[in-house]
Amino acid sequence: MKAVETIPYTLYKGTFIDTPELGELRIRFNCLVGVNQQGVIDFIKEQDQITAKYDWKQYTGRYKHEKEREADIQMFLDNHGRENYFNYIKIEDNKFIFPGFIDTHIHSSQYPNVGIGLNIQLLDWLKIYTFPLENSFKMDNLQLVNDIYTKIIKKTLGCGTTCASYFTTIDNETSKIFGDLLLSFGQRGFVGKVCMNHNDDYPEYQQEEKHCVEDIKHLKQYFDSKNPDNEDLVKPIITPRFAPVCSRSLLTKLGKLSQDEKLPIQTHISENKGEIDLVKKLFPECSNYANVYDNHNLLQESTILAHAIHLSKEECKLIKEKNCSISHCPTSNTFIASGEAPVKKYLYHDKINVSLGTDISGGWDPSILSIIRQSILVSHHLSMKSGNNFDKLSLNDGLFMSTQGGAIAVGLQETIGTFDIGKRFDSQVIDLQTGNLDLFHWQLVNDDDNNDDKKLKMLNLLNKWVFCGDDRNCSSVFVNGRKVVSK
Ligand SMILES: [Zn+2]
Repeated sequence: MKAVETIPYTLYKGTFIDTPELGELRIRFNCLVGVNQQGVIDFIKEQDQITAKYDWKQYTGRYKHEKEREADIQMFLDNHGRENYFNYIKIEDNKFIFPGFIDTHIHSSQYPNVGIGLNIQLLDWLKIYTFPLENSFKMDNLQLVNDIYTKIIKKTLGCGTTCASYFTTIDNETSKIFGDLLLSFGQRGFVGKVCMNHNDDYPEYQQEEKHCVEDIKHLKQYFDSKNPDNEDLVKPIITPRFAPVCSRSLLTKLGKLSQDEKLPIQTHISENKGEIDLVKKLFPECSNYANVYDNHNLLQESTILAHAIHLSKEECKLIKEKNCSISHCPTSNTFIASGEAPVKKYLYHDKINVSLGTDISGGWDPSILSIIRQSILVSHHLSMKSGNNFDKLSLNDGLFMSTQGGAIAVGLQETIGTFDIGKRFDSQVIDLQTGNLDLFHWQLVNDDDNNDDKKLKMLNLLNKWVFCGDDRNCSSVFVNGRKVVSK
């Protein structure tokens, strides 16, 4: 099992890029970062602190890296006093280290349906594609279960996703298997056994309410016993599918369970106009869709609301008051033609935290890098329609939503999302000189550039990565300090 492999203390040297605040990009060249045996960053030295002590220019020619390594290690020992064995990993020029992506909305069981069903609207989509596939996830169908769950974890990890908030299916036993697979591949994940009890096509779902609370408690105990020491790598998340398929009493039970067990919540909201009308009809006592969840104590700081395309002013206010996060799924919203979420407004006007979701399989693309790109393009469409430049998301906005915004959404903003002392080392090494990208010599960062030139070149390279790159540029992936992907 990857998740429990021991690791030596490791020093990483290279360019570290992250987004500590919305709209802010932090680029640290020649940065030395120490990651301890628990996968926690406990040492960071930036270039200016190092150059005060060492003259890098004196090391030239083929011995440069060896001398640099010796100097780094000596400097580390001077500062840190660590005598144990440790690794030293130099990330070469024109590669950089970025936080692992966080996918805050993905249905692992629906992976086989990616790319099909174009032009079918949400409620029909569920009936034709989703429910029949999800219903086949049972213990007497283990080969299919293992095949689908293994493929989606490997695929997302290979795209640099180090943490994801998954929907599995209504079946608890196979949801346990999904958690086991997360641990064996070493991906950090939230397992959302789906809760729903209203579905005319599947009368057996009506039994759900009787056992769903016990099921989720059981999942929690099971993952607690399987997680490595001191690491909550896999956790259950309470997952009422969405209001139209849940009774009032089921929603009430799930709201209470979240408070009793301190478990996060994820669900869908306001994806499609037909769905919103249906919710109005089913819950006439509630003033709007968000109010249905609030009435059942399901809007909390730990709640992820997926899609949230057509929210009213009152709903935005309520979601902000409750400090919930939105998972923006632009690929899915475009593919199923659900609409364009006004994300720039949510972020900067309503001050709601927004993260990114692939929404496999409503969205066809498992890569959060692509979702950043799509989120920016959808915002440009909004801007073209409104004639207002404000609606356009920046590259920094997209990078923030894909990492620290996601960390806030899953309640791990103190644990992952950026490179800071005390955080876990969840990261991806990006190599821009592989894959599909053609770069030219004047575009590459080199030692003779001054800091301003370096920063400008790096910004352009980041743009190229987001708009022209893909999973081939993600050369290795680390979760909790462990290398889980090496290409
Ligand atoms: Zn979804």
